[in-house]
Amino acid sequence: MPSENKGSPVLRALGLVAALAGGGAEAQDPYLRERAAMLQEIAALAKETGVETGRPVFSARTMAAMSKVPRHLFVPAPYGALAYANRPLPIGHGQTISQPYIVALMTDLLDPKPGDAVLEIGTGSGYQAAVLAELVARVYSIEIIEPVGKDAAQLLRQLGYKNVEARIGDGYDGWPERAPFDAIIVTAAAPQVPPALVAQLKTGGRMVVPVGAPAEVQFLHVMVKQTDGSLSIQRALPVRFVPLTRSR
Ligand code: SAH
Repeated sequence: MPSENKGSPVLRALGLVAALAGGGAEAQDPYLRERAAMLQEIAALAKETGVETGRPVFSARTMAAMSKVPRHLFVPAPYGALAYANRPLPIGHGQTISQPYIVALMTDLLDPKPGDAVLEIGTGSGYQAAVLAELVARVYSIEIIEPVGKDAAQLLRQLGYKNVEARIGDGYDGWPERAPFDAIIVTAAAPQVPPALVAQLKTGGRMVVPVGAPAEVQFLHVMVKQTDGSLSIQRALPVRFVPLTRSR
């Protein structure tokens, strides 16, 4: 085993996998090592921000999903070399794919359960939808920019994510035909939480959403719908997201 692998449980584990596969694992997936490094960086950042987020350690399920999804296929080809760096990247049309740590944090804060139906607002590259698809029964994702949403839907289909249904539309109104949802994730920032999303969330359901005007500091909020229909609100972390736009 190469010496730089010493002391890294993730890389050691992957090294073991590679050894068991006769070294074939890395040949089959040349991004295995980069993805393992990304997981280590996510874990380090989770620890650093743990006091603010309440999640110093992300669940094994979250980390396993992050280790599975081929992020390099979700970023535009010119950025392929940066696919596993912990940074957001442009995906065209002025939009961005969030940095891996934020995807992992939002996923973890959502507490996804295997049987859940989850609504995502802002399909973007489709990466967050793919991560969620590894964790829950059904993912419904809405994108307002048609070519962005169509590309993402096509990629998700190609990769075999059969439990993701994506459509073009204004996510401000949610997806009434598929409601109610066990959890809702919004990956664009709004000054207020869209009321339709609150209405379409099940009692006890969780919503993770960046709240704030584009020019202001936005905060990631975690909300849980109470039996009386109100929301318990916890502020997790200052963030910077593209704005939630409206179709009218
Ligand atoms: N989850 C994405 C991140 C995309 S960035 C990923 O994993 O790559 C946010 C996306 O939200 C952008 O693509 C933007 O076009 C979209 N968006 C903005 N306002 C929206 C709205 N009202 N309804 C649906 N999508 C919206």
